[in-house]
Amino acid sequence: MTYTASRNQQELRSRANAQIERLNLPTDVELADIVERVALATGRQIEIEPVGDRDWENVTGLVLLTPDSAKILVRKSDPRWYQFHTVLHELSHVVFGHAGCATLPLKHPGRHHVRAGQTVLARGIVTPDFEADLDFNDPELVKEAEAEKLSQMLSRLVLRPRHGRDEAVFG
Ligand SMILES: [Zn+2]
Repeated sequence: MTYTASRNQQELRSRANAQIERLNLPTDVELADIVERVALATGRQIEIEPVGDRDWENVTGLVLLTPDSAKILVRKSDPRWYQFHTVLHELSHVVFGHAGCATLPLKHPGRHHVRAGQTVLARGIVTPDFEADLDFNDPELVKEAEAEKLSQMLSRLVLRPRHGRDEAVFG
């Protein structure tokens, strides 16, 4: 399936809804369930790793993709609730099948984590205000908006984000 960006707000919403259905999440869903379902739906092994934050000034999370895996790096020093949202955001990119990266600066230290054959999606501190004035002509912004939309829907489903199993996901 080749990915193309949503063309308007309505398409973006219905796609996010379709992804929620695709994940077929259990009731009482926890972060660990979401990770598991994303792995199942995408056929990718999912790994989450908190990393040191030296020089991570503009990027708070990123995902390293290979055809069969996705490794999500989150910034150790960020508050748990923020790491939690970052993980959902990066998982959402994986669910949508987004690939490539326009936002990670070439000299960013996150690059050290990148190996041949991997592509990177990075999460910056500044995310587009996706509900208002999204430029649907810019596929990179649309990708971010799609991931943000889906991650917000997912985080609403998780009733107890501070549950022990969620903590365990962060290692
Ligand atoms: Zn993103």
